[in-house]
Amino acid sequence: MNLLKKIVLLAIICLIGVSSYVTPSIKGECSQKKLEKLGVIVSIAPLAEWVKSVGTNKVDVTILVPPGASPHTYEPKPSQLIKVEKAKIFVKNGAGLEFWANKIVRINKDILVVDISKGVKLIELSPKEQKKHHLLKDPHLWLSLRNAKKGVKEIYEALSKVNPENEEYYRKNMNEYIEKLDALDKEISKKLKAVKNKKFIVLHPSWSYFSKDYGLEQIPIERGGKEPGPKYIKKIIDTARENNIKVVFVEPQFNQKSAEVIAREINGRVVSINPLAEDYLENMRITVNEFVKWLK
Ligand SMILES: [Zn+2]
Repeated sequence: MNLLKKIVLLAIICLIGVSSYVTPSIKGECSQKKLEKLGVIVSIAPLAEWVKSVGTNKVDVTILVPPGASPHTYEPKPSQLIKVEKAKIFVKNGAGLEFWANKIVRINKDILVVDISKGVKLIELSPKEQKKHHLLKDPHLWLSLRNAKKGVKEIYEALSKVNPENEEYYRKNMNEYIEKLDALDKEISKKLKAVKNKKFIVLHPSWSYFSKDYGLEQIPIERGGKEPGPKYIKKIIDTARENNIKVVFVEPQFNQKSAEVIAREINGRVVSINPLAEDYLENMRITVNEFVKWLK
């Protein structure tokens, strides 16, 4: 049997899973093919969609920070780090979000690190924020579709480097996903241009890069990763009244008490939006619809 025939036969057998009349040697090759998936570790859930979109069934993606946890405080557990040993690529957001990233490289010296923040124009934090946050730059860059485009390109490059035989396949997938990002970016621009009130109150300052893309102004309740004092809460309430703001956005990963207090004072409501959902594109669409609905 020539090689091509063998590959085709193997593919068919693996696909339909007819194992009863397959010789043990072929069965072995089938399961080996499954094991050969390229191990990719991502820090936060939204990055998983980017990797899966480019790598599809050729990658096995592990998310370290669970969607319900705050990435600013969560550190991967030893049981989660088992996957790191066999992984080929580690995709991180960067800009200081993964303060534990050196652990990954210590476990697996050969792992290829993809830093999404590379090539992104980072937003500087104020000196006060820097001091409290122990960060120099704002790390919430993954919530910009334009940054996502850069990130997906970095991921394509890493996959192609580790697995050059499939470079063309990865490139095709990357281009398809970038088309979706571009289309949604245009759609969001159009929708948010029509919104009159560009200022919005939000619990945690996740939407800085997103706001920059679409000319919105984020007013965060939390500062430097800390709950606000009564003085600052009063300031936000005054701002809300001056600007006729009737909604307080919250992220499910953070304590919502102060947001509820503010909402009550302004006779407004609390609306939840998620910066860390795994279905990135769909979640951005849902989030924007919330913005359009409430920023009138
Ligand atoms: Zn954050």
